[in-house]
Amino acid sequence: MSASRNEPRAGHDLSDRFLGCLLGLAIGDAFGMPVEGMPAGVIRSQYGWVDRYMPRTDSAGNELEAAGEITDDTEMMLCHVESLVSTGGLVDPENTGMRFLRLFNSESRRFMGRTTQLSLIRADETGDFQAGIGGEHAAGNGVAMRIAPIGLIHSVGRFNAEVFVREVMRAGLITHSNPEAINGGVAIAYGVRLQVTGEAPPEVLADEVCSFIDEDEVSRKIRTAGMLARPELSLDAHIANLQKIGTSGYVAESVGAAFYCATVAGGDLRAGIELAANAGGDTDTVAAMAGALIGAHAGASALPLDLVEGLAGRAYILVAAPGLYETAMQRAGLYVRLHQR
Ligand SMILES: [Mg+2]
Repeated sequence: MSASRNEPRAGHDLSDRFLGCLLGLAIGDAFGMPVEGMPAGVIRSQYGWVDRYMPRTDSAGNELEAAGEITDDTEMMLCHVESLVSTGGLVDPENTGMRFLRLFNSESRRFMGRTTQLSLIRADETGDFQAGIGGEHAAGNGVAMRIAPIGLIHSVGRFNAEVFVREVMRAGLITHSNPEAINGGVAIAYGVRLQVTGEAPPEVLADEVCSFIDEDEVSRKIRTAGMLARPELSLDAHIANLQKIGTSGYVAESVGAAFYCATVAGGDLRAGIELAANAGGDTDTVAAMAGALIGAHAGASALPLDLVEGLAGRAYILVAAPGLYETAMQRAGLYVRLHQR
């Protein structure tokens, strides 16, 4: 279904892919926002096919969020970006956690998941930003949805798998200590890394990620996604496959669904996030995670202009992404050489 799948990626340098990843995430978030929590059948009967930014409305038709508005997925991802830039690319849980708390104490709280909120309340009381909530109710996608910047930081320079996984864990433990929630975070961050570096084309992305992360329900869902995802299938068949994987806020389902969308889309952001939005469930987060993967592969210059221009907060992301790129270069010891050229 993707026209851009086999086109050469000339001119898409690393910094373009950093920006593509962050924009892709935010665009997916805003695209899925109006139908979050709806089953696919309800979306179908109310909207036909979601193919553009729409406002979120209540049952009486009153506008709750404007079209193109981002939610917690993008806002918390940007907390990671700001924090990584301020520390030179190292995860500092207290530094990031304080930024999360600032969001929690703003209007943005209305978007935040329960595990995230409860963990932040506790961290605020105890000062411990490595004591995220555990248990089966904490197996949500709150880590995976926001973790892409750590994959970006570790896309430049020598890759140390042990350090990488430890950094994702430290970032995740601010709010979640459930092993699946953390493993889902490792999956998305590593997937982003593979897309930015070009080490794995989208068609083998799911398999490559599964061979890196822990074996659990997250890896089983991603493997299933990789097997089912055939770009030539009809839209109805894609939606049916996404139902098989599941699209709920359970991390294994939503991360699996995101890898399905990214695999089918290749470099076509619109195709990937349309599937995520129309499959129902946790649409904003599935589309955000898929968007991060697709954008990291395609680069910002390959993203649809109307989706970039209609995105609330795009100006901030246009500034944040180069900052993160410079931080990644500095961390890898490449900064001086880059500027001496
Ligand atoms: Mg959200």
